[in-house]
Order: sequence, then C-alpha cells, then structure tokens
Amino acid sequence: MVVSEETNPPVEGEAPSKKAAKKAAKAAEKQQKKAEHKGANPAQNDTAEPDISEGLYGAYKLINSDGGHRDRVYVDVKDLNEKVVGQTVWVRARLQTSRAKGKQCFAVLRQNSSTVQLLISVNDERKVSKQMVKFTGNITKESIVDIQATVVKTATPIESCTVQNVELSGLQVWVVSSARAQLPLLIEDAARPEISDDPEALKIRVNQDTRLDNRVLDLRTPANQAIFRIEAGVCRLFRDILTKRGFVEIHTPKIISAASEGGANVFTVSYFKSSAYLAQSPQLYKQMAIAADFDKVFTVGAVFRAEDSNTHRHLTEFVGLDLEMSFKHHYHEVLDTIGQTFTDMFRGLQEQFASEIATVGQQYKVEPFKFLDPPLRLEFPQAVQILKEAGVTIGDEDDLSTPDEKLLGRLVKAKYDTDFYILDKYPLAVRPFYTMPDPNNPKASNSYDMFMRGEEILSGAQRIHDPEFLTARAKHHGIDIEKIAAYIESFRLGCPPHAGGGIGLERVVMLYLGLDNIRKTSMFPRDPKRVTP
Ligand code: ATP
Repeated sequence: MVVSEETNPPVEGEAPSKKAAKKAAKAAEKQQKKAEHKGANPAQNDTAEPDISEGLYGAYKLINSDGGHRDRVYVDVKDLNEKVVGQTVWVRARLQTSRAKGKQCFAVLRQNSSTVQLLISVNDERKVSKQMVKFTGNITKESIVDIQATVVKTATPIESCTVQNVELSGLQVWVVSSARAQLPLLIEDAARPEISDDPEALKIRVNQDTRLDNRVLDLRTPANQAIFRIEAGVCRLFRDILTKRGFVEIHTPKIISAASEGGANVFTVSYFKSSAYLAQSPQLYKQMAIAADFDKVFTVGAVFRAEDSNTHRHLTEFVGLDLEMSFKHHYHEVLDTIGQTFTDMFRGLQEQFASEIATVGQQYKVEPFKFLDPPLRLEFPQAVQILKEAGVTIGDEDDLSTPDEKLLGRLVKAKYDTDFYILDKYPLAVRPFYTMPDPNNPKASNSYDMFMRGEEILSGAQRIHDPEFLTARAKHHGIDIEKIAAYIESFRLGCPPHAGGGIGLERVVMLYLGLDNIRKTSMFPRDPKRVTP
C-alpha cells in the first residue's frame, strides 16, 4: 500500500483523481509562469512588504545554454562533511521534501543516493526573508533546485539523511526544473526498507507494477541508484577482466535470418518484403569469430527470447554477457578461465562497490555473497547423488528441474560454504545439438552450467568444430540443415577447438545481491506482459 503522512499521495489501487491532478498541475504551472514573468520572484506579488531576499530566490528562466553562471562551482552532496564547515557552497539537487513552518523551512536535498538537510531560516543579516522561506516550502517535491548555502555542523547527527554531521543553511534558492505537484509515487515510500521488525512498516509498500509504470521516479530511490551502478560494475569488470586476459570485444548482429536453435522462442520481425528474427543468442557468431582467428572473444548485448515465461527470473529481452575461447587440448582450459572470471568479478564487486551493496542492503535483505577461489566444480552425477541423498527422486540423465537446482544450491552452500559453483558434464540428451559429447561416456557431454545462490546464470559447452560431426548431430536433433548452412560452412574452413558460455547480466546482479525478482535489476524490463515504458 502506498500511504504516507505526507501530502496527498495516491493510495495503491486508487489512482489520484485525474481531475485533481490536472488542477494541481495547472496551478503549479501558473505559479511558475508567473514567477518567470515577474523577474522570477513569486513572493513579490504575495505581499506588499519589501523583500530583502529579492533576487536571491525564484525560478530560473529556461536554461538554454546562453552562458550564464558557467564559472559556478557545485559541490556534490556526498562530499559535504565537517571539513567544509563554514564554507559557502552551491549544490544542485532534488528537493525530496520540504516543510515550512513560521520563520523556518526544513527540506531534504537528494543527489543520487546521498541526502542532506537544508534549513532556510528568516534572518535579516543573511538576507533571508519570510517570503523566501514560504517560497521554499511551496516548491514541489522532486523539483531540481540550485541552493547556495553555508555548511553548518549539526548539534546531533541527522539520522534521516546520509550526510549526518553537517547541514546546509540556505542563502539562495532557485528552481531549475519543477516536478508536477501530484506524483504517482513518493520516493520515501518507494525507498522504505522491505525488512523490518514492525509489521506496520511493511504495509507501506509501492507495488511492482506502480514502480515499473513510473520507473523514472522509482529509479531515483537510493537502492535503485546503487543497483544500476553495481550492474554497470558487472559489465565493466567483465570487460576489463577478459580484456586483460587477451579477449577481443566483438559485436554480433541482432537481426538474423534463421533462429539459432531451430526456430523455437524467437521473435519474428518484418524485414522489407520478407521477415527476419531477433537473435536469441550471439553464440553462432561468437563461434564464427573463433573460426575467423580471433581466438578469445566476448560480447555484451541484447538477447531476445519469445518465451511466455512469467517468472521472477525470465525477461523477453535481457543483456547477454557472452564469451567464446579457443583451446589447445581440453575444454577445461576454458572452464577454468570462465570460473576465474567470475571469481575476479565477485572480488571486484566486493572491493569497488561496498557502499552501493550496503545501500541496497538498507532496503532489501542482502546476504553477503560467498565464493571460493578457485571456484567449486562438481560433476553432474555428483549433483544427482547429493540430491538423491536429500531424498529427491531423479534419473541419472534427467535435467535438473528449477526446484532441484534451488535445493542443490542450498545443499552445496551447507556443504561447501559457497554461493557460486560450476556443474560440469551434463547429460548429452538435455543439451543443444552443437554440444561436444563426452569422449568417455556417450551419455554425457562436455558441457556445464554455473549457478549463483542455486539459480542458473551461465550455460556453456565445448562446441563441435567438425562440420561432418556437427551435421550428423544437427540431423539427429531434427534441425533443418539448410537453415544453418552458413554456420556449418564456417567449420569447413578450419576452426580451432573451442568452448564458451552465455551469461544473463540481470540474473547475475539479482543473484549477487540476493534480490527476489529480475525486474529489480532491469532498468526498463521487457516481459510477456510489459513492453513499456
Ligand atoms: P533457463 O533454463 O533459466 O530458462 P536457459 O537454459 O534458457 O535458461 P540459456 O539459453 O542457456 O538459458 O542462456 C544462458 C544464460 O542467459 C542463462 O544462464 C541466464 O543467465 C540467461 N538467460 C536465459 N534466458 C533468460 C531470460 N529469459 N531472461 C533473463 N536471463 C536469461
């Protein structure tokens, strides 16, 4: 439920009356226009008293890069601390809340995940008038403001802000861009912790659809600001770690003529007079890059799946972190590289994103992510054995069901104290046609999945690089050879043995943080029921 003691937020399931919203928006617009027209000082008309703050507050005229204030230096909210006490600074931030009472207005300014208290207090010496206080109290929440202020040490820490030991004492207040009066959700509500001992506190929730429908606002919460910085970190670490290991970043086409794995789960798009598909994996192209002598390649890009899967971990469009690597004699050369890439990435996240991870932890239950170096590697029959010992009925060549995978994750964690592990040697029957069979066991294959907190985040294998064998395996799987002719042909030109894998970015971030839904780690998620905003 969206409820708050603050001004008229909509209650969940009860959209703000359109009429009221329109009226309020119009009033705000009128007020702003008036301000701009009258030398940007709305208080001017409210009172006959002379205003000692004239020219020190109001709404900026539209910033259209005409050159004004180019020399002004702004300080970041996160950098406000005791070292700058006494200094006069400029800050550009959002006005998260404001409350004017008598001669004072208390406000909270927010910049990304950082917040600071602002006090505007009537003071003749500082040229702060009561009109300026009133003006500040009337600025709509979420408006962007420029504040000139003195940094003041606080008597007691301000618990409700991230900057606790100092506050700002305002000298100038300018509205840069105002937000409409009626907001579809309040940031304070969207940012409320979802872990609390108080059941009443847990009732104050903004539901997922309201969040996603109003994603621009929702993304402003400290947890979301942190989540998408961590996600950027995963991409950067993936790129940096692989680049250092000699991988080349490539870009593969997203519009393709034939479905990679025989036609299921692909989106068809019209393509001039005919049709094409959206790529459901860059895999065939990564392999062709290997055949073209790039040796070690990776790609980061959109992957499309036309699956009507309405689960916590499936999207119809996600970001694939894919890699492919040639090897000399054994695909474990590649498996070790991928495993080490994950270990390095987890360590990088721990070291470089500790504060973002802590910020997410203030809203959601985040258990620290545990991993081993080198990572744990189990073989499929071992996993089956562990599950059987726990009472699960499972055949030696059955694929693991999602509940089995989750249970296995818990059992592995209990036994080995790791949230990440590699499962090698999947049954051949449950893997795609291009998977290399195990030379020692015709029912097994040189393929692997990797798991975080019991959920799959990577699938990979040694691929068949012999064209005749590949053709035979494709036929065995009932695949139309004509449709994959170009793919098979690339192996007729000589291709090194190679293996690789595909990772889902949003899943990695979701599971690293221990979040419960992939929509929390996709900035604008696409699923079977959502293609907007
Ligand atoms: P699942 O069994 O979970 O549906 P999959 O076996 O279809 O996944 P692959 O095709 O092997 O997955 O894709 C490799 C990786 O891409 C997965 O391990 C996962 O991280 C990610 N992934 C696959 N499908 C999706 C999806 N629909 N939404 C988000 N990520 C996905």
